[in-house]
Amino acid sequence: MRVCQNRHILFFLRKAPTFSSQGFVSLDVEYIDGTKIESKANKYTFVWRKSVEKNRAKLMEKVKVLLSQIDDAIAQDKSAEDEGVCFTPETLTEIADELRQSLEEQPEPMNKEEKKAIRERKRQVRQIEQMRDKLSEYNTHIETLGERNSCSKTDPDATFMRMKEDAMNNGQTKPGYNLQIGTENQFITDFALFHNPNDTGTMKPFLDSFYNRYGRFAKEVCADSGYGSEENYSFMESHDMEAYVKYNYFHKEQKRAFKQDIFRIENLYYSPDGDYFVCPMGQHMERVGTRHNKTERGYRTVNAVYRAHRCDGCPLRFRCYKRKYGNR
Ligand code: SF4
Repeated sequence: MRVCQNRHILFFLRKAPTFSSQGFVSLDVEYIDGTKIESKANKYTFVWRKSVEKNRAKLMEKVKVLLSQIDDAIAQDKSAEDEGVCFTPETLTEIADELRQSLEEQPEPMNKEEKKAIRERKRQVRQIEQMRDKLSEYNTHIETLGERNSCSKTDPDATFMRMKEDAMNNGQTKPGYNLQIGTENQFITDFALFHNPNDTGTMKPFLDSFYNRYGRFAKEVCADSGYGSEENYSFMESHDMEAYVKYNYFHKEQKRAFKQDIFRIENLYYSPDGDYFVCPMGQHMERVGTRHNKTERGYRTVNAVYRAHRCDGCPLRFRCYKRKYGNR
């Protein structure tokens, strides 16, 4: 599947600078939204990184065991004696070739035992070749996956993700692409395909894509709450973009149930002077530390941690704090 073959999108993109000079678009505003596009590949053509890595490690162990069984001098040189050895398809081809050659150089078997030993050696050579082919397949999969966790065998560019259309309602993943489109005055000004199924993670590279196309960022960016994150706000702020982007909890916060939930951190009273929260039982929750986290894209977040002094015996505990021991 190649969305860039979509002639309409390409037409608008090629014409975007012209539209800009004619006054149809200013390129000062970018309205962003995305959709998942299903690949034509079959949904059973999946390759999962975890299983490939697990099976590859198992195969390495099998190779070591097999080579330790082969009492040939050539094989023993490269056998599992050295724990650090990581076999490659080339090494295995070399071992198989040398074993085959040593078989050819051997004199004609004189008795049953010798014939049996030769048959066994031939079987081992075949096994090494099969393992080499499998290892080569796993290596190709890992290379195709790149930084992704999944891909399709028949459409290597597609990544497995949940689609909006879920007829069976079981959250099944299908091969597809996350297509992001930027528009202004109903003209498409930018588009890009992503492997990441979450819109939040696509925003920074998509804004960069706009910059690469036009040599500047839009002055204003408008997107739905799926794009709201500290990382994205910080990026837009540092590049002088005005963000019209709701944060993830915006809609939840409007609901009465949310507003009336006295146990939510957002609804606790906070004293800026004393830097403490007040819990529903009136206890002060003092700041006890700072938690540092790093997102997948390397953005560092800093979270302040507050703790109540004594939650034992609190009648509201079962609603306020899930853990059996310790203080909230
Ligand atoms: S469990 Fe602790 S934090 Fe929660 S209401 Fe009771 S005393 Fe306050």
